[in-house]
Amino acid sequence: MHIEIDNKSGFCFGVQRAINKVEKLIENGEAVNCLGDIVHNQEEISRLTKKGMNTIHPDNLDATQNSTVLVRSHGEPPSTFDKLKQNNNKTIDATCPVVSKLQHRIKQSFHDINKKQGQLVIFGKEQHPEVIGLNGHTQNQSIIVTTNDDLIKIDFNKPIEIYSQTTMPLGDFQHIVSEIKLRANNEVTVHDTICRQVAGRVPHLKEFVKKFDKVIFVSGKKSSNGKSLYGVCKSQNPDTYFISSPDEINPEWIRKTDTIGICGATSTPQWLMEEVKHHIEQNIKNDQA
Ligand code: SF4
Repeated sequence: MHIEIDNKSGFCFGVQRAINKVEKLIENGEAVNCLGDIVHNQEEISRLTKKGMNTIHPDNLDATQNSTVLVRSHGEPPSTFDKLKQNNNKTIDATCPVVSKLQHRIKQSFHDINKKQGQLVIFGKEQHPEVIGLNGHTQNQSIIVTTNDDLIKIDFNKPIEIYSQTTMPLGDFQHIVSEIKLRANNEVTVHDTICRQVAGRVPHLKEFVKKFDKVIFVSGKKSSNGKSLYGVCKSQNPDTYFISSPDEINPEWIRKTDTIGICGATSTPQWLMEEVKHHIEQNIKNDQA
């Protein structure tokens, strides 16, 4: 049985950077509180929690005082930073630099388009923390669209400027942009702000999964990137199975299998994919020998 881990799966640069900051703070003896889940992966959160990280639920922000609080890679609206400061917290900003740049662009565009009585549209998921952060940079005045049904929120007689959440699928963004252009009676300015760390994984995974009899896709159940990339893998190789931890593997999935590929999302830790490989080698492959 040949088992291979995809060398392009695993944490993106922004998530790895935030985790490195947490680990460094812990090493320096600081009690670090992460505002919201640092990554959509419960195994990685547990690992960091055992080391000393605490996670604060965003609803408890008001009650957080005199603490060290890390803002994760998704970023936050300006109001969060204000509140952290008011409550005498030390803020460690681990917003991914790509997201920070996007927040600045959106803020400037919002200012400019307001002068033209236009609308700023964000293609993304309304409740996604990155989108909440981006919207906060437009005084919560952006129009958030996820599907064609949301286009009803747009006034097509006014100028439109459209951006995307960094982790949305490129094809879906192109689709919504063409739908907007079809309906628009005024200028439409499009900013493709999808992160290439994510978009580049789609064509790569399509090829990767075709090389194997079976594919184990490893991701947290809350990860939207995980759900989306799993769908991509499954479409190319129907024998793809979604798991969040090694003990979820059903030995029947890989019975009499010659080749297995292991891959994951931008929130999947490398060590977890290695544990999956180890688990198959030690507990399943040997049993089936
Ligand atoms: S997906 Fe891209 S923009 Fe988002 S955190 Fe990762 S590197 Fe940053």
